[in-house]
Amino acid sequence: MHRTIDMPAPSDAEERRSKPPVVVYPNETLPPAGLDVLHAARRSMSKIAEIIVPPREAGSFRVPKGHFFRIVSTEGSQVGDLNLWNAADLSERFFSGKTRALHATHVGVGDRLWSTLPYLRPMATITYDTLGWYGWDADGAGIHDVIGTRCDPYTNRLLKGDDYHHCCHSNLSRALASEMNIPVREAEAHVHDVLNVFMCTGFTRDTHQYFMKASPVRPGDFIEFFAEIDLLGALSACPGGDCGSGHSSDLAPCYPLRVEIWQPEPESLAGRAFPERSPYPGTHGL
Ligand SMILES: [Zn+2]
Repeated sequence: MHRTIDMPAPSDAEERRSKPPVVVYPNETLPPAGLDVLHAARRSMSKIAEIIVPPREAGSFRVPKGHFFRIVSTEGSQVGDLNLWNAADLSERFFSGKTRALHATHVGVGDRLWSTLPYLRPMATITYDTLGWYGWDADGAGIHDVIGTRCDPYTNRLLKGDDYHHCCHSNLSRALASEMNIPVREAEAHVHDVLNVFMCTGFTRDTHQYFMKASPVRPGDFIEFFAEIDLLGALSACPGGDCGSGHSSDLAPCYPLRVEIWQPEPESLAGRAFPERSPYPGTHGL
């Protein structure tokens, strides 16, 4: 609490602190996720493709609109860093910050993964999560956060003074470069703040610093999403492994992750509306 050391509190400090919190974005008016339809649709689905993401690497995958995809824990406890783009337009990508503001610091079944401005529509809806039981632990931590950014070699250089090339940022950059057949420096500009899949995180109670602890994910666990638009995804198997000790090095045990693409019977989604980009005209008062 270094900010308060030389700053005496005013006489009405407690009164000022006692105001009630107001939710910034009441989300009752969000378009409904339609989970009943999705849960019925998933009962008819069959797996049509899968990729294995090697440890300390990333892999890319495509999910057609109206399909499901799963990120599956395979051989050991492992965290994944997820990026999503509109498969037809890389400028529309996952908006971690607004997803946090609209839902919460950690996401679960029924929450949507929103895209950047000026699109601002659900790219994917979370339909199943075998770690849904975890909730909030005694440290205030939860699973699948949208508060972290991704481990990257620039912050690593800043804090440790050395270079590590298998941070999630670099893994995602290489994976996108390979997928799009573009130079890695061009791909890097499209890599964005992630959904931290399976990661167990929170803020410390005393200093409110971002912390991580060993992920509770075990082989067989998965999180499942419904693609609301045609998606290009990239997933990095973080060099932090279960993120119970450190990251941005080769020290932690790391394991592969599997991404599975599942196709439901088309008629199971009959009548379901897919989201359009925001109708705001973009005139900004001019
Ligand atoms: Zn990472």
